[in-house]
Amino acid sequence: MKFLKIKKILPASLIALCLCGQGSVLANASIVNNYSVCYAAEFDYRAVFDSTYYAQRYPDVAAIYGTEPEALYSHFVNAGMAEVRQPSAAFNVQIYMSNYEDLQSIFGSDIAAYYKHYISSGKNESRVGDHLLPGKKLKDFSELSAVSVPAKDNQIQEKTYDFITPSSTLVVVNHSHGIDTKYVPSVASVGNGQLMREDVAPIVLKMISDARKQGVGISVVSGYRSASRQTMLYNRKVNYYKSLGCNDEDARRKAATVVNPPGYSEHQTGLCMDITDTSYRGLTTSQERTKGYQWILAHCAEYGFILRYPVGKENVTEVIYEPWHFRYVGKEAAIEIMQRGITLEEYAAERGLK
Ligand SMILES: [Zn+2]
Repeated sequence: MKFLKIKKILPASLIALCLCGQGSVLANASIVNNYSVCYAAEFDYRAVFDSTYYAQRYPDVAAIYGTEPEALYSHFVNAGMAEVRQPSAAFNVQIYMSNYEDLQSIFGSDIAAYYKHYISSGKNESRVGDHLLPGKKLKDFSELSAVSVPAKDNQIQEKTYDFITPSSTLVVVNHSHGIDTKYVPSVASVGNGQLMREDVAPIVLKMISDARKQGVGISVVSGYRSASRQTMLYNRKVNYYKSLGCNDEDARRKAATVVNPPGYSEHQTGLCMDITDTSYRGLTTSQERTKGYQWILAHCAEYGFILRYPVGKENVTEVIYEPWHFRYVGKEAAIEIMQRGITLEEYAAERGLK
């Protein structure tokens, strides 16, 4: 399979990033870009695309394209590859509304309705979809239609946002923004031996039980990690590079590309989790094929979670695509971030975080 070929052409450190699950921040944006190029050029989604499953899961799409695998595949790819039902990957409601002003008199401010229309019209904004809408139920996002997203400009002016304080649900922790290594949140169990911040843990448990009721098994494989555990993981990696003959500075720099240094891992906040399908634990891009991931992606915003490191945003997050790492930011921010297909970094930058 092509995926194996990628492993061969990528440097060993990047393979480690794919598989380590320790935070995986890349220090060097050029590495990310190289990776993206390799990824785009070498990864053939046909190898992992199951058109039968897709047609069954999205009968409304099959109603337009039939069951012809290539047509379904190209729809899937055009819709953002990972999951057609995630409007964020390909759908910008502002652009869509300005292209089709006449739709505003029909759909008002119902973003889900625009998205349904967009999907139904076959992605290319041709108006063929109009007659397909009645009776075509797209239940995955029906919940979102009840939530109207406040106008972005008003939001920025009227509200204050805290992206700095470690206990803020919007705190940005990345290579440029660290937090105090002494910060220790109160935590509670989310099962599977994992902990999350105590106010978020019940939300995660509810999410897991709601998924189970719909026949989907998911569980957290890594939640809260203390700064001291992060220090241990980081130092272990530094020592490994020293044992290979690197000097202290080089060893630290190399280690940071695989394991975040203490204070720079989002896991220290207790707000994020590596969560997978119970039948497939791999922290690899294959996770996106699982029912668990597809369910989480479609529903995470309803619980206040976002896909923290989306595909195609590696140069913004400086982290590889991680279809297992989800971050709690609260419902309002989550819905906006997921619907607009942006990252927490971009959301924060729009609100003044340098
Ligand atoms: Zn993670």
